[in-house]
Amino acid sequence: MHILLLGSGGREHALAWKIAASPLLTKLWCAPGNGGIAREAECVVLDVANHAAVIEFCKTNAVDLVVVGPETPLVAGIVDDLTKAGIKAFGPSKLAAQLEGSKGFTKDLCREFDIPTGAYQRFNAAAEALAYVRAQGAPIVVKADGLAAGKGVVVAKTLAEAEAAIAMMFEGGFGSAGAEVVIEEYLAGREISFFALCDGETAIPLASAQDHKRVFDHDEGPNTGGMGAYSPTPFVTPEIHDQIMSRIILPTLAGMKKRGMPFRGVLYAGVMLTAHGPKLFEYNVRFGDPECQVHMLRMMSDIVPALLASCDGQLKNFNLRWYPDPALTVVMAAKGYPGDYKKGTRIDGLDEAAKIEGVEIFHAGTVAKDGAILANGGRVLNVCAMGKTIREAQARAYQAVDAIRWPDGFCRRDIAGQAVAQERG
Ligand code: AMP
Repeated sequence: MHILLLGSGGREHALAWKIAASPLLTKLWCAPGNGGIAREAECVVLDVANHAAVIEFCKTNAVDLVVVGPETPLVAGIVDDLTKAGIKAFGPSKLAAQLEGSKGFTKDLCREFDIPTGAYQRFNAAAEALAYVRAQGAPIVVKADGLAAGKGVVVAKTLAEAEAAIAMMFEGGFGSAGAEVVIEEYLAGREISFFALCDGETAIPLASAQDHKRVFDHDEGPNTGGMGAYSPTPFVTPEIHDQIMSRIILPTLAGMKKRGMPFRGVLYAGVMLTAHGPKLFEYNVRFGDPECQVHMLRMMSDIVPALLASCDGQLKNFNLRWYPDPALTVVMAAKGYPGDYKKGTRIDGLDEAAKIEGVEIFHAGTVAKDGAILANGGRVLNVCAMGKTIREAQARAYQAVDAIRWPDGFCRRDIAGQAVAQERG
């Protein structure tokens, strides 16, 4: 098969690595890719926002399947345009991608189909939103309705913070993404991520995983795209797993089908384990980043037939197999991230680090130049490891981190800390 992967992050490097291992593959391209992806795929310069250019590339190169990594092209309808051109594409349609593209859409779906979530209201003017938060009190959560590069959520501990967030959003702080605002009840509890591969009707859960969103150890500092992840997580017990499937994932699939917008692709639920059971606080419509990196390491099955079955509505008789060993990833980011950071700094020691048993390094934001690897983004490397236990995976990943010579980078030192503590008993 000829496969084209779209994206340039650590998620796409992990997907490229896994797709490249498929015996079904004859040729893999990635647009635009990065310095690490270049080892698994031929990186091509293509403007992913230009759907006509992507279609033309697929026709010229007889591409059989397009795999879309990030949410932006999905929300922009790239799967619809490829499908119309007769090219198979993995991921949801534009309408189905509203689950990530519009927070209000998801909340209304939850209300209609009785999916547990926090109380909420949608607003398109500041005055009503301010009156609502004043009536509700803090803590309360203020969300820009549209895509805001993972930054559109303010968990306000005080009324003043909520008021400031509302003002900022309606003043255009997130551009058109904030033209509508959703205000949501604050949910207290442990946060977990739940993933399912879907084909419009059937959902096959992926191995459980947890990420770490705050930039510093012990969940301090601002939110990021994710500073590390591990799988499986001991906090998704079989009982919680069943509750999430039966109360959240399956009703969502049924509701989307009923609305005439069946969901295909990876459904990624952000779930709070509250005192009143699991509650959904957001959907994403693609693999997680960095959760995908640990999923790909643990996935025993060939991924390509799974992606095809999702596109073709054939997951009913499908089964995904996983290695029992835990996997963990530590994100190495450029100093200053998620604020301003330098690009172009040199990274050494990657080959030595990759030789450590169980270790795999995915590139999230690098560029290869004159034989050297240079940082080219905020999140730069995903240092991953597998082990017999989470503790062993953690020790190996940090051994690899310590072998990497990159004075301009940093990472969290406590990825999977709570899971390791739980494992020790
Ligand atoms: P998001 O950008 O949607 O991933 O949200 C960022 C973070 O905000 C999430 O990872 C949660 O930690 C937090 N969050 C979102 N919604 C709520 C909520 N209703 N209650 C508490 N925390 C929330």
